[in-house]
Amino acid sequence: MTEMTETTTLPQSRHLATTVPGPRSQQLHAERLAQVSDGFGMVLPVFVDRADGGIIQDVDGNRLIDFASGIAVTSAGAANPRVRQRVAAQLERFTHTCFMVTEYESFTQVCRWLNEHTPGDFDKRTALFSTGAEAVENAVKIARSATGRPNMLVFDEAYHGRSLLTMAMTAKENPYRLNFGPLPEEIVRAASANPLRPAVAGDDLAATALASVEATLAERGAETFAAMVIEPIQGEGGFIVPAPGFLAGLRRIADQYGIVLVIDEIQAGMGRTGMLYASEHEGIAGDITLSAKALADGLPLSAVTGRAELMNAVHTGGLGGTYAGNPLACEAALAVFEEFEDGSLLANARTIEAVARDTLEALVTETAIVAQFRGRGAMLALEFADTGTLEPRPDLARTISAACHSRGVLTLTCGTHGNVIRLLPPLVIEEELLRDGLEVLRGAVLEAQATARTPVGVAAAP
Ligand code: PMP
Repeated sequence: MTEMTETTTLPQSRHLATTVPGPRSQQLHAERLAQVSDGFGMVLPVFVDRADGGIIQDVDGNRLIDFASGIAVTSAGAANPRVRQRVAAQLERFTHTCFMVTEYESFTQVCRWLNEHTPGDFDKRTALFSTGAEAVENAVKIARSATGRPNMLVFDEAYHGRSLLTMAMTAKENPYRLNFGPLPEEIVRAASANPLRPAVAGDDLAATALASVEATLAERGAETFAAMVIEPIQGEGGFIVPAPGFLAGLRRIADQYGIVLVIDEIQAGMGRTGMLYASEHEGIAGDITLSAKALADGLPLSAVTGRAELMNAVHTGGLGGTYAGNPLACEAALAVFEEFEDGSLLANARTIEAVARDTLEALVTETAIVAQFRGRGAMLALEFADTGTLEPRPDLARTISAACHSRGVLTLTCGTHGNVIRLLPPLVIEEELLRDGLEVLRGAVLEAQATARTPVGVAAAP
């Protein structure tokens, strides 16, 4: 993880010049409140000047360690040299034509790479869009068009976006769905296989969850389902790695009933977990795989890649969008693909996991407030709960995250109960910087443990 050293444009060290947020950020934030809709939340009211490698530099000169990557986007770094060069060169040529009007080669090249690299040894086609939610919506359109069926199966703790359809597919009410109904009715929710908090009891979690999925399908008639849509690691829901065998079981059920299996790899894909796609860890392939976020390292680009016969079932003109597969974003994606081919991004993700495990995993037994350390590669999380009862402790996730922020480490929370701190560092973060940030987090957890109401030494949950 040291390859970026010569090419990063910012010192790769944490530095506090002021309190966080500093005076200039506070000023700018006051103006934001006067101008921007209150509907937008925000994790840390700090205004960014520059970002690169594992560092975000704010307008007050503070250098924060980035454990967010803009929510799993800037995996190759927020100022990656290849991305900058390709996008700058494209800027000189043209910014936009609309691929539905006149064509450009980079669009096809991105589709080809994704057809070759997404899981599944079958003939594929790809359609490009701009946002993750758009990719999910278009997968639904394609699956309905190909099957002639209306219903969608989604899962507990799922997150698929904020558009009208995708928020209906998302599980958590507040903030994603609250007050925004009525929601589409053809969305049916099934149990997931959350090892820490199983929805259905049983010795073999995958088997009992799969039986419950079959029962849910049967209620509406399995033959009415166009698709089942699942994240291979549930992201916003809490970085939940499903019980082993669950995804393979869904693959079998989808085949049995002719249901299109859509794997939403928008957060977990593009190398985040140490494999290019997280479904590869389970040895399965979706009929359709969705990519976004890290696909173009910060430029808005998303992709639906799937079996040629599904992707081509849609009538001509049925898919598209003004900005779909914008040429600047396509160039950025081609730069990201070069990084995967020449660089060490996947190996870095695995090193990040090893280093984080080394620093954080012991907190599960050392404290009575960390119920689990989990995740894969550079998609890792700590879940806070009273470990005796498993009662979620969102208050601790908030306090610990706030302590990290004030010390110059940008952490994010997530989870159905808001009690999870997730780590999504750029895959190019240097090891020393990573260790510094993890020690800050570890220290904040130990401090919280010292003041938490739970007695020390309560046995940790399995
Ligand atoms: N699916 C998953 C799994 C996601 O994590 C997200 C974004 N967090 C989305 C879909 C929606 O992506 P976007 O915000 O780009 O619409």
